[in-house]
Amino acid sequence: MPGDIISVPDLRAGISKWYQMNKRTLPWRGSHDPYLIWISEIIFQQTRIKQGISYYRRFITRFPDLSSLARADEREVLKLWEGLGYYARARNLHETARYLWVQRRGKFPETFAGIRALKGIGDYTAACIASICYGLPYAAVDGNVYRVVSRLYADSTPIDTGAGKRHYRQLAQALLDPVNPGDFNEAMMDLGATCCTRANPACLLCPLQRFCLAHRNRSEINFPVKSRKLNRKKRFFHYFFILTDDQIWLHKRTGNDIWRGLYELPLLESAGPEFFSPAIRDPKLVYTQIHRLTHQDIRIRYYRPIEWTADPDFFDDEIIRVPVARLPEFPLPQPLKQFISGRLAELTG
Ligand code: SF4
Repeated sequence: MPGDIISVPDLRAGISKWYQMNKRTLPWRGSHDPYLIWISEIIFQQTRIKQGISYYRRFITRFPDLSSLARADEREVLKLWEGLGYYARARNLHETARYLWVQRRGKFPETFAGIRALKGIGDYTAACIASICYGLPYAAVDGNVYRVVSRLYADSTPIDTGAGKRHYRQLAQALLDPVNPGDFNEAMMDLGATCCTRANPACLLCPLQRFCLAHRNRSEINFPVKSRKLNRKKRFFHYFFILTDDQIWLHKRTGNDIWRGLYELPLLESAGPEFFSPAIRDPKLVYTQIHRLTHQDIRIRYYRPIEWTADPDFFDDEIIRVPVARLPEFPLPQPLKQFISGRLAELTG
């Protein structure tokens, strides 16, 4: 049992001391407000701190509390999220804020099970809120902590399986300081983000160095182990920039797919790089992009149809027409925003 190798009290003392001297300055640090901790953890689940901090500040300025978020329009919430990706996070935040406001009079649950039952909150976020806001002893295990723990024990159990995740959560739970679980969790996350990094761990500065089996074997970068390679799906999107009477054609993405709730140009998706449609004659290719998501690569082509012979029903989705001046109100997927913002004058001129 790894606990036999590591002196848990010494490890807790070491990491606590390190944290007091090295903790990152983050806007929500020191707060025990579950709303702020919830928003920060959801934003930073899939986003680097550097990129996410301006989003966090904007979000909290516009929606400083549960009631303001609960009363907001979904389009505005998504607009503030524009560019962060994984938009289900924003939709779930909004839905859960409404639920808490209406069904629980704005009161956050104060138990791990109650927090975990909220839509969009998994084990990790529930453990963060429970430990930081209510001092409850639950280990919060994100990608950084999986890495630290797997190295600490030089453990080859793959981290990308359900059983592997449960295994590392148990190890992290056994290390957790029950007296100060919030600080311990934040310390482990900071250690993984700043010291025990993926490619170049700074072992000489690490408070866990004397306990760490991977360091002892000089095999730090062999951990964590993954069992499989990601199989990336290829998709081909063709977007049409269509302007009639100074109005841009858009439609709202619906259904169980990426970017749900965001707006985009009329789209044809094809199985290969080319498309053919008798309704669109002589389309002029104006721009191409490759957009990588976790599980898919999307090859995107943008066209200005020279001659438009079909009506809006040609596209499967409902088309809306938006005056050019109102376009900034609509949340767009990141690649589309990039395409349009650089060329709006040229495209509408
Ligand atoms: S000693 Fe190195 S590998 Fe081990 S936990 Fe610290 S930084 Fe990570």
